[in-house]
Amino acid sequence: MNLFKYNGTLYIVPTPIGNLSDITYRALKILKEVDLIACENIKRTNILLEHFNIKNTLISFNKNNEFYKTDNLIQKLKQGKKIALVSNAGTPIINDPGYLLIKKCHIFCIQIIPLPGPCSAITALSASGISTNRFCYEGFLPSKKKIRQNLLHSLRKEKRTIIFCESKYRIIETIKDIINEIGKNRHIVIAREITKKWEIIYGNKAKVMLSWLENNKNIYSKGENIIIINGYKKDKNINISENTINTFQILKNFLSLKQSVLITSKIHKVSKNNLYQYAIKNKEK
Ligand code: SAM
Repeated sequence: MNLFKYNGTLYIVPTPIGNLSDITYRALKILKEVDLIACENIKRTNILLEHFNIKNTLISFNKNNEFYKTDNLIQKLKQGKKIALVSNAGTPIINDPGYLLIKKCHIFCIQIIPLPGPCSAITALSASGISTNRFCYEGFLPSKKKIRQNLLHSLRKEKRTIIFCESKYRIIETIKDIINEIGKNRHIVIAREITKKWEIIYGNKAKVMLSWLENNKNIYSKGENIIIINGYKKDKNINISENTINTFQILKNFLSLKQSVLITSKIHKVSKNNLYQYAIKNKEK
């Protein structure tokens, strides 16, 4: 049974995330054989092609032109062309352009052939030492502080392992937000510059990671990072965020224990019971 209406094929071709030796034989074969390559950045893809001695036609396909270039590529696929889609690095579509193109290929019954290959999130996860059975990929955190904090707050009880992309500019801010919204003792792993010369994969409690980053600012102010956060585990030690504790402690200076617990639980939407237990446990401290 032929599911496809046209002879064209779209290949999704992952490319290395740093180390060029990570390209697959099959990726090279497809990049040579297709009629054209749709790429996020012509200059970057040219460097890759030149390295492997491949000559082919490149057309730019990025987040700024994706919308109108999609229809153009669909026309070419309908005419029977073989097209490879690549991004700057890693697996296209995963936080990279192309979703709309794939969706339209489905709508028009055009064949899509995805190749397996490098992906920073999955490579980082494999080396994280954090459970890989269930995970969620959150891409980049929002750049606006409040929205970022709200998102992290909403993930504090997420049981699955959480994966984020993070830029060198904001990594320290993000770890501080993780401490405040999720907890200073949550285990996190930072995978930096995977497959490259200055690769570092290191994990510890969020509070330890913060001092590690602050002591190594010169390293972490450069390069690309994936952050992996251990999922929420109900533990005997009640996990209350730094922000919640701060509010509680301020209120306790003016109000009774009961009132402070009640108001704090309403402000931070945490369980009264947990907060009360925390307060009792930490009374003498
Ligand atoms: N589609 C890509 C993939 O499959 O890896 C991800 C694209 S996303 C726009 C780029 C982000 O991926 C970077 O900002 C960084 O967070 C992460 N990243 C890419 N290469 C990396 C590397 N070698 N080491 C660590 N993180 C990397």
